[in-house]
Formats: sequence, C-alpha cells, structure tokens
Amino acid sequence: NDILDGTCNYAFFNEAMETKLHRNKTIENELRAAIDEKDTSKIYIQYQPLIDLKTNLIIGFEALARMDSDNFGTISPIEFIEIAERKHLIAALGNLILKKACEFSKRLNELGFTEQKIAVNISGIQLLRDDFSNSVINILKECQMKESSLELEITESILLDNFTAINEKLKELQNHKIQIALDDFGTGYSSLYRLGELNLNTLKIDRYFINKITARDENELITGDIISMGHKFGLNVVAEGVELQAQKEYLIENNCDIMQGYLFSRPLLEKDAIEILKMTNGTKSLNK
Ligand code: C2E
Ligand code: MG
Ligand code: MG
Ligand code: MG
Repeated sequence: NDILDGTCNYAFFNEAMETKLHRNKTIENELRAAIDEKDTSKIYIQYQPLIDLKTNLIIGFEALARMDSDNFGTISPIEFIEIAERKHLIAALGNLILKKACEFSKRLNELGFTEQKIAVNISGIQLLRDDFSNSVINILKECQMKESSLELEITESILLDNFTAINEKLKELQNHKIQIALDDFGTGYSSLYRLGELNLNTLKIDRYFINKITARDENELITGDIISMGHKFGLNVVAEGVELQAQKEYLIENNCDIMQGYLFSRPLLEKDAIEILKMTNGTKSLNK
C-alpha cells in the first residue's frame, strides 16, 4: 500500500491534510469575524426565482448563502455551512442569513410585492436547537414579515436519527404559520411510508430526477409519479434544477406546481432579483 511504505508518500499525505486543516481554520476565523464584528459583507445571499408553472410568474425566491473569503475567493455553502456546524457557529450564522433574507422580503413588500415567499435552507443542528423557533419568530417580528411568507427548507438526511424530535419542531413552526419544505427529495433514503406523517407543506424534487426527464431511458422515468405522490400527500411540488425547455414541458404535463433552475434564472444578487421580478410580474401583485 502506497500510503504506508514511503516517507515520501506519507509526507505528501500529511501536507494535503495540513492544507485542508489550514483552510478550515481560516474559513472558521473569517466566519467568526463576520458574525462577531458584524462585518457581514463577506456573507451574503443570492436569490433564485421560484416560478409558478401555471402562470409563469415569480411566486418567491430561494435564499442561497454565499461567502467571499479574503483568502480563498468565493466558497460554496456546502463547505462553510459544514464548518459552521462543527465549530458551533451555525446558530449565529443561521440567524444572520435568516435576517438578511427577511430584510429582503421587507424590501420586496415596500416595492409592492407582498405575496412572494422566501425559502431559507436550515441545517439539522440549527433546527434542533432549543432556541430555534423563538429566534425565527423574533426575526420575523423585527422585519414585520408575514409568517406565511417564510418557508424553511430541510433535507431528508436530518430525519434519519431524529424523526420524532424534528417532526415536533416542524409542527411548532407550522403552528406559527411558517411553511416547511423537504429539500432534495429522493436522494436521502428516507422511508416513503413516513412522508405522510411529516409536517410539510412543500416537496422539492431533487435535480437528479429532473435530469432523468431528458436522459435516455424512459422506462426509468418516475418523475411524474413523484409529482403525483407529492400531491397525494397534499403537498406543493417544486422541481429543482430545471435547465431545459423539454424538462419544463414534461413538468407542466405532469402537473408540477413550481420550477426552479437555470432555465429561468441562476441565483441572483438582490438588485438583479428585484429587476427580474419587476420584468416578470410587472407591478401586479399575485392573488393566491
Ligand atoms: P439546495 O438547497 O438544494 O439549493 C439548490 C442548489 O442548486 C444551489 O446550489 C443552486 O445554486 C443550485 N441550482 C439551482 N438551479 C440549478 C440548475 O438549474 N442546475 C444546477 N446544476 N444547479 C442549480 P448552491 O447555491 O451551491 O447551494 C448548495 C447547497 O448548499 C444548497 O442546496 C443547500 O443545501 C446548501 N445551502 C445554501 N445556502 C444555505 C444556507 O443558508 N443554510 C444552509 N444550512 N444550507 C445552505
Ligand atoms: Mg434548498
Ligand atoms: Mg435542493
Ligand atoms: Mg442540493
């Protein structure tokens, strides 16, 4: 085995580890600075439109966190959220993100767009904290945001060990009119039979199944069945990662409710999100 025999390989392995450790530590420090010193410009949000497939109007946005590191440039949320979780920074970082998203919602309101929802991703560790519901409700109050305009997205993976505790949390949030979405559906190996028990409003079908629509083998195409199943459970169904017109057409034929993806728009900076909203929806507000 290569890694064990030469000191050379061992040194190389060590160096890679050290680079990774150094990177993690640097990102951690930058996160801390962004949170503590309220220098929050390093962390910002891009907004990706959610499109109603019946009306072609923008019914909301998903908030996607971004980090501009002084040392490494733009960093994926997958990377810095995981670091924040391990270093006990996720509550503070999560609140910062939530606050920015709710302030965006407030500005939309001031522009006359009062019906758009904002979807915010929440990690399991964040959701399971005792103070989570309270901090969400406080942020909503501060921003005078309608509770039903906020949707929290959770992934299947967090349900594995904590189904009951998570489900109670979700109920509590729903009691406050906050909407709940299950993100990346179909990739997390969760038990289908429990889907009906989960306190959800929305099902977001993972990009994998949207890709399948235009992939070769039609026999393996179950995306339409997933949409029907979502509807059977009384859920609003969103297709993630829609890139092609043919995918959109399939989704319309199969009664999917909402689409999100590069076909309509990439995640956008706030000013561009407002521009596209004005262009798409005009000044008329949505009556839902
Ligand atoms: P997600 O919640 O499933 O978000 C969708 C991801 O797909 C985003 O990646 C988005 O940019 C990307 N995407 C959207 N449309 C398309 C498309 O048509 N094609 C392709 N190829 N990709 C598309 P992003 O922004 O890199 O975020 C990755 C993940 O990081 C998110 O997946 C979410 O799980 C997590 N994340 C992002 N922001 C936050 C946050 O504020 N808090 C937490 N806890 N997690 C976050
Ligand atoms: Mg999401
Ligand atoms: Mg997703
Ligand atoms: Mg994803």
